Amino acid sequence: MNDSWGNICRPRQTQSNLNWRTDVLPVADKKLVVGNRRSYGDVCINDGGAIIDATGLNRFISFDRSTGIVRCEAGVTLWQVAKFAVPLGWFLPVTPGTGFVTVAGAVANDVHGKNHHVAGSFGCFVKKLQLRRSNGDELVCSETENTELFAATIGGLGLTGFISWVEFALKPIQHSMMAVDSVSYNSYEEFLALSSESEKTHEYCVSWIDCLDKSGRGVFFRGKHAEEGGLDADLEAAKRSVPALVGAGFPLVNQLSVYLFNATYMRAHAGNRQYTETIAKFFYPLDSLLNWNRIYGRKGFYQFQCVVPLENAEVLKEVFACISAANQGSFLSVLKTMGSIASPALLSFCRPGVTLAIDFPNRGKKTMQLLSTLEDLVMHAGGAIYPAKDATMSAATFEKSFPKLAEYIQYVDPAFTSSFWQRVNAK
Ligand SMILES: Cc1cc2nc3c(=O)[nH]c(=O)nc-3n(C[C@H](O)[C@H](O)[C@H](O)COP(=O)(O)OP(=O)(O)OC[C@H]3O[C@@H](n4cnc5c(N)ncnc54)[C@H](O)[C@@H]3O)c2cc1C
Repeated sequence: MNDSWGNICRPRQTQSNLNWRTDVLPVADKKLVVGNRRSYGDVCINDGGAIIDATGLNRFISFDRSTGIVRCEAGVTLWQVAKFAVPLGWFLPVTPGTGFVTVAGAVANDVHGKNHHVAGSFGCFVKKLQLRRSNGDELVCSETENTELFAATIGGLGLTGFISWVEFALKPIQHSMMAVDSVSYNSYEEFLALSSESEKTHEYCVSWIDCLDKSGRGVFFRGKHAEEGGLDADLEAAKRSVPALVGAGFPLVNQLSVYLFNATYMRAHAGNRQYTETIAKFFYPLDSLLNWNRIYGRKGFYQFQCVVPLENAEVLKEVFACISAANQGSFLSVLKTMGSIASPALLSFCRPGVTLAIDFPNRGKKTMQLLSTLEDLVMHAGGAIYPAKDATMSAATFEKSFPKLAEYIQYVDPAFTSSFWQRVNAK
């Protein structure tokens, strides 16, 4: 795979692979090390330059069973960590909605999960990492060594150099099943009330929203690690995959299929349900079908993820109205709140507020216009757009979203770049 998860960039770039931590980086002066390319837009793309794939660095280096501190190579995936750690009574402190992300990818985008309100972002758990710069320097970075580079590399979009290993803290768990509670709601106000109430009692909170319905209806999911069942839950990754032929053809996502899916999903989750499910189902429901991004056909899709401060949370109603009027949404629309635990990163997207993530099939100009309208609404409300998902934000929006950008820029490795960086740093 050459493109990012959204399949919209079509890059012309050379590619090489790293298999050992001591492998020499290509001498190219426009390089970017990447992981599993689960970023939707262009942070893991380097049009006109060189991509260095680090997924071959997939080994564990050390694990302290008494503290849960694990050190592993950059390309180890979160699935690998979960499979290794859960039977021993440990779990990822923060995990995004797919386990196919690499540890270095999780650092470089400072990813967040359903527990942001109580845990913060992935970067909050990173103890140390090793960074190789293009001048040959190999530096261990932490809160006590090379501290500025540490803060610039977490959430640093892969531009401070090659991360060869990461050491981070896992969290202890007693049981591997999840106790889940789902509650359907009929308005955005109900969502906000459910969030504020559930965050006091539940470690994990997330909500699916019907993007075609102006009222803001959806289903709220809140979960905890179960209090019984032991540590032997099924952690198998998916075996089914969407065929390549689907990805090369017309999109399966259209107004009718989204409407039918959303109506069925709302009906299936009506009211309040309590159940237990595996870690895999709770955290990684989309991983049960490999290559699901192919359902968007050969033109691919965009994801828009923003965060807006709670005091301006009302603006998301305007966002929903625009999406509904444009009839462009998809099944995948996620709404949740973020808490106030600060990340050590200079450029973290994570901040207190409400975050919305939504997929849009690529319909050319119409989709670009919609994305631009949404961007304006979010920026007027003092919000920010998530680089890991983005392929369209302007340089001005990027600058406004990240107040410590000027400080960060000092630590960018001069031989590293990405399509994203070329777009947002164009002065
Ligand atoms: C289904 C799905 C659900 C998702 N859910 C969430 C979510 O809930 N929360 C969230 O925060 N994100 C989420 N994401 C986004 C995803 O977590 C991030 O894009 C993540 O960074 C992808 O990691 P990756 O290993 O695929 O890295 P890539 O996408 O390949 O790269 C991401 C960045 O990491 C850098 N990088 C990778 N390896 C190295 C290295 N060894 N050295 C230096 N830089 C490196 C790259 O240069 C790039 O800038 C989701 C993505 C998908 C597909």
